[in-house]
Amino acid sequence: MILNTIRDYDFSNKKALVRVDFNVPLKDGVVTDDTRIQAALPTISYLLEHGATVVVMSHFGRPKGKKNPEFSMAPIAKRFSELLGKQVILAKDVIGPEVALQVAGLKKGDVLLLENVRFYAEEETNDPEFSKNLASFGDVYVNDAFGTAHRAHASTEGVAHFLPSFAGFLIEKEVKFMAPLLENPDKPFVAIIGGSKVSSKISVLESLVRTCNTIVIGGGMAYTFLAVQGHSIGKSLVEEDYKETAASFLAKAKEKGVQVILPVDHLCGEEFKEDTAVVTIDSADIPQNLIGMDIGPKTVALIVAAVSQAKSVVWNGPMGVFEFNSFANGTLTVAKALAQSNATTVVGGGDSVAAINKFNLADKISHVSTGGGASLEFLEGQVLPGIKALEK
Ligand code: ADP
Ligand code: MG
Repeated sequence: MILNTIRDYDFSNKKALVRVDFNVPLKDGVVTDDTRIQAALPTISYLLEHGATVVVMSHFGRPKGKKNPEFSMAPIAKRFSELLGKQVILAKDVIGPEVALQVAGLKKGDVLLLENVRFYAEEETNDPEFSKNLASFGDVYVNDAFGTAHRAHASTEGVAHFLPSFAGFLIEKEVKFMAPLLENPDKPFVAIIGGSKVSSKISVLESLVRTCNTIVIGGGMAYTFLAVQGHSIGKSLVEEDYKETAASFLAKAKEKGVQVILPVDHLCGEEFKEDTAVVTIDSADIPQNLIGMDIGPKTVALIVAAVSQAKSVVWNGPMGVFEFNSFANGTLTVAKALAQSNATTVVGGGDSVAAINKFNLADKISHVSTGGGASLEFLEGQVLPGIKALEK
């Protein structure tokens, strides 16, 4: 997959219409975490340094297609301006004559932030007329919002039909690290998949089994696999409807010669709550009265050994109920193993990324994906409409 990137275009004296992901947490009108704004700065600064005028657009929250001041970009414009170190003009609307006037009045190097694109229902329905209106604000389109690239919305896909389109640095990096995992990863390639449900991770398992050497299945979804292998799983999470799928996945992995690592021991509790007493079960089988809530020390050792041999590793989904301190160890040690590894390491998924951040290990991972749903769909091998629009 080769993308057109902003390095491929001469931006001098051009108006660049840039889609970013400024969907940041807000409390009492103040941005409480500006990571996503920071993440967009390299692209915006590059465009400004190369002579562009920049019109920025993003969604924020769920205003459900209506203009709602609660979801205005105003507080975000303020923080964006502080971080960029220059004035950011807030547009009076998303589209329309007033905005057109504001855009026409921009001088080289100016930055205008459009209002919340989701103030219009046409954004999410990917309305061509709305896309055309947005596109009229630029000579060229730049997409740097990986987190929404799996949605074919007007600002993520529709506008690309009307303008030459290029990937910003964030999207470029996401694809640079994730595409090889599906195409030709450095081997041995270890995929570590966890989280609560088989149903939400089966597609990614089936995609990665094509290129990986070892697949680790942990978290709540592991018990359905253990159950089909004939193990007792006590009161652990199980998806009866997915037992057949799990069984055929295991058969497929075997046929392909892919090693599957499932938990061989567990940390359990009698009740699914933070202060339940931790019972270590030194066997794959869980007694009737217990719930499997984290992988045990032997399983951790197996995963650590696999990671230490690997040349590439992808991790999606916690190994246990890491939100409870006494069941965070499996997830923490996997995170540490990735951090210490010399392999190319990629972490995706909302909760896995939250875990990496909670443990302060993000800077020791080759690539921490900025999109939860988008990274999952990418690893499933799905075509992301926002990315497809940028392909060479
Ligand atoms: P991600 O967001 O990284 O893709 P998921 O959303 O699939 O991950 O799963 C994360 C959730 O899985 C966490 O809330 C975690 O508590 C839960 N989980 C992990 N292990 C277990 C388990 N053994 N039993 C129940 N829930 C679990
Ligand atoms: Mg999640």
